[in-house]
Order: sequence, then structure tokens, then C-alpha cells
Amino acid sequence: MSRSAHPAGPRHADVLTEGHYSAPAADLNVLDEKVWSRTVTRDADGALTVGGITVARLAEEFGTPAYFLDESDFRARCRAWSEAFGPDADVFYAGKAFLSRAVVRWLKEEGLNLDVCSGGELTTALDAGMPAERIAFHGNNKTVAEIERAVEAGIGRIVLDSFQEIVRVAHIAQRHGVRQRVQIRVTVGVEAHTHEFIATAHEDQKFGIALADGQAAEAVRRALSLDGLDLIGVHSHIGSQIFDMAGFEVSARRVVQLLAEIRDEHGVELPEIDLGGGLGIAYTSEDDPREPHEIAKALSDIVTRECESAKLRTPRISVEPGRAIVGPTAFTLYEVGTIKPLEGLRTYVSVDGGMSDNIRTALYDAEYSVALVSRTSDAEPMLVRVVGKHCESGDIVVKDAFLPADLAPGDLIAVPATGAYCRAMASNYNHALRPPVVAVRDGEARVIVRRETEEDLLRLDVG
Ligand SMILES: *Cc1c(COP(=O)(O)O)cnc(C)c1O
Repeated sequence: MSRSAHPAGPRHADVLTEGHYSAPAADLNVLDEKVWSRTVTRDADGALTVGGITVARLAEEFGTPAYFLDESDFRARCRAWSEAFGPDADVFYAGKAFLSRAVVRWLKEEGLNLDVCSGGELTTALDAGMPAERIAFHGNNKTVAEIERAVEAGIGRIVLDSFQEIVRVAHIAQRHGVRQRVQIRVTVGVEAHTHEFIATAHEDQKFGIALADGQAAEAVRRALSLDGLDLIGVHSHIGSQIFDMAGFEVSARRVVQLLAEIRDEHGVELPEIDLGGGLGIAYTSEDDPREPHEIAKALSDIVTRECESAKLRTPRISVEPGRAIVGPTAFTLYEVGTIKPLEGLRTYVSVDGGMSDNIRTALYDAEYSVALVSRTSDAEPMLVRVVGKHCESGDIVVKDAFLPADLAPGDLIAVPATGAYCRAMASNYNHALRPPVVAVRDGEARVIVRRETEEDLLRLDVG
């Protein structure tokens, strides 16, 4: 629903029909396990617990707002992905969704590889001991300094994103006396978002090299001709929060077609294809994500089938889930502040965070769920909009949801599925202090990214 659809005029009539909300759940006290991390439950007193610890204790010890990350869920998801794809495929966790040194160690222990897309992410990965050969480096504008650092570290692969970068990486690799393993990111003319995908001839976006007009084939020609590069495969990433496998099907078919063309022209069969990430998770009860094993089967079936018909050896597949691993594993805990009922419209519930800890609602019109978690309630459901404390009317955390009508200042509410792209995109707007990330596991809670302090703010402000 675009905001410009209602350019002017009184909005009162629109408001109630404009939302995405469906009827309130029969019982607001019941937590839909689809949107909460695996160890979340309510205790006998009705308070939400995660990893065996109640939110009241967590709020007392760590304050609000804060992200609580269910470590055993995170690890279980890593294992589910790597077991689903098996030994003949590689799972790269997309670090941009949320990266910290603890996360890197978990990934390493669970046998996953890691995607980075900046020098900062690379530093975090290496510092926490991820072997360089298990790291892939992405991005449409890697700096020379970043490429140098990656090559020096012995990074597993660099995903080339432009003609200029092909030459740049080749030169740097040669200067270091190495042949850098690379993939070429191609844009296959598929854009997928949530439940839809669109196949287009031209891709009007900044990533990758277009397949359609022969550009990708030309990029392959150049990469194969340069001594500094070891071209191991082709990469495609088609979108985000995708539920429909049809987009991946088209993408895989086109990528395999390119491999066949490369074989015909150059007599080489590239050994790998990377089908990217973008797999959807449940933010609300209406979302129905696929399980990793279904995704793995669908992808490997498509690739195998296409390769058989092109008479190609089946390449090694890699995938890059970010959101699908970390997204469902965390929730944000807020304390309710002011509550403003707008007669005939809805009730605005303000929390002690907002767009500084979750920009996704403002940025993408993302949908979230919310629940009262410090207690249960038998009060009637009321339609609410959960908003932050920032100086923007677009500072919305949850656009439309139901909370019990007896909600009061001081109650704790939680927004599930905030593990991905929330702390990672957090800002200091209004000099907000970015919240901590607390890992919870087996009755223990541990800060893995601490809360920012006012001293942190002043330290960067050098006067
Ligand atoms: C963002 C991104 C991913 C991860 O996307 P998710 O939606 O978090 O799964 C994977 N690969 C590439 C190249 C990306 O840019």
C-alpha cells in the first residue's frame, strides 16, 4: 500500500480499511510458535520466557529496548540448513543480516560458511576466527583497500559484480602472486519479493552483470582470460523474503543455461553455482515459510534436471540464507510508555525504542507481530499501532496489531522475528543509544553486543 495513494484529504475514512491486519487472534495470550523463536513459552504466571528466563528478569538485568537472541534456535537453524543441503553443497550465512563475533563463532562451530559485504564485516569475521577460505566477499562497490585485505587474508571467494571489478581484482591478485577464486554475479532478469516474482528482460538495478544482453557471457570471457582469477562459478541472488520457489526455478534454469554456453564456447564446465539467499520467514501468522529441507530439495531438483537436459555435470550448489537463519531467533523487548487512544481510529502505543532499532517498517512497510509478554490478559483486543519515540510520524514499529485493551504504561511488549536487519540497520537517530543483543541459552543470558552509552556518543563527537 503506497503512502502516495492517499495524497490529501481527511484520512479518517481510510484508516480502518487501509491496514493489513486481519481479525485478532482468538486468544491474544497464545503465542503463535511460527513467529517466535523455539524456546519461547509462557510460564505459569503468564510471562514470556526464552531459554528458560522470564522477560521480567531480562528487562531488569539488561534494560529495554533490547534484542534477545535464542542461541540454541540459531544453532539449530544452522544445522537444519547444512543438513538439508548435505555435503555436496555449501551454506553461507549472509552476515549483513546480523553479525557479531559470537555469531561468527557459532557459525564456525556449526560448520557454516560466511558472506561478508564490507571491510567491517570481514574484520569481524576474521577477528572471531572464521577461516578466510570459508568467507565469500560480495558487494557492488568493494574498495581497492577492501579487496586487498580480502586477497591478503586468503578469502575463499570474491563475487565479482562489474567489469571494472574483474580487472581490479585480477590486478590485485596478480600483485599478490595468487589466483583468486571468484564467481561472477549475474542478474538473471528475475525479481522476487515475498509471494511474487517478476521475470523481466532488463534489470534496472545496481547489482550484478546482466545475462540477457550477453554482458554476463562477456564478463566470463574476460575473467577466464585473466591470470589472476580462478573463475569457479556463477552467482545469482534474486530478492528477499521470498516464499515462492518459482523465482529460484527460473533463476537456476538461466544460470545453468549460461554454464552450458560457457562449456560450448570455452570448453570448461564451471564447478559451482550460487543461488543466493532471500528465503522468507514468518513475521506474522499469515506467513508460511518453507523448511530448509524442502528448499534444498526444490533447488537441487531444478539444478539436476536442468543440467541433465543441458548434458552438464551437476555443479556444486551454494546458498546464502541470512534472514532465514537469524531472523526468527530474536525478539525485541520494549517497555510501554504513553498510550494514546484516537477515537474511532486506533490506539497509539509508544515504546522506548522505534525506528532506531527497527527501521524496516518505515523503510519497506514491513509487517510485524507484537504481544504483551510481561503478563497475560483477559481484556478485549484493541487495534493498536506500535510507534517509537523518535521525531518522525513514520516512526512505526508495528503498523496494525491487536493488544489487550487493559495495556498500561510499564507493561512489556515484544516484537518477534527481529533477528535480521534490525540491530544490523540500527541508527543513532535522535542520539538514541543502540540496544544490546543478549544471547539466551539454557537458563543463561549473556550480552554479545553491549548497549551503547552516552559516553560512546560523546567519544565519537570530538568537538
Ligand atoms: C542480502 C543477500 C543475501 C541474504 O539475503 P536474506 O534475505 O537475508 O536471506 C544473500 N546473498 C546476497 C548476495 C545478498 O545480497
